[in-house]
Amino acid sequence: MDLPPAIREDHNPLAFEGPLAFLRWTTYSCPHCQGVFRRDFWPYNVRLGSGERMSKKCGKVFDDGSREWPDLAASRKLRYFLPPGIQALTGAGLFCVIFTLIIAPRDVVNFQTGSILVAVFLSPVLVWCLLRLPFVLRSVHRFKDEHGVHQRISGGI
Ligand SMILES: [Zn+2]
Repeated sequence: MDLPPAIREDHNPLAFEGPLAFLRWTTYSCPHCQGVFRRDFWPYNVRLGSGERMSKKCGKVFDDGSREWPDLAASRKLRYFLPPGIQALTGAGLFCVIFTLIIAPRDVVNFQTGSILVAVFLSPVLVWCLLRLPFVLRSVHRFKDEHGVHQRISGGI
């Protein structure tokens, strides 16, 4: 793919650090006309897609930085399922599980109660992962379709 990459710009207008660092965002704009096509609220957000995007403003094609699932490195796959906000939620959930197990009476602590606690405290994360799954499957399908087309083209020449 020989397309010009999108322009990535970080915005942190209040220069907040620490707990208020989420008040920052990243804009992505068309390299031809600088038209902004996306805003992300965490850095290096992983997007699924073919990477090719046509600017709505100028109609030229560029690389928007998205990649299909099979093209992503393992760390980016993990990041897709557990972006920073969800990582924090997972950490908080695990903390609640461990804390509850520590304060619970010894005789009720077993594998079953442990599993129930994980299900209760980590359910938002599980729901989030389930919501992400259809997008991954769609991306894998797109990837396979595209490769099928390429094979057919090269096979015909
Ligand atoms: Zn443009």
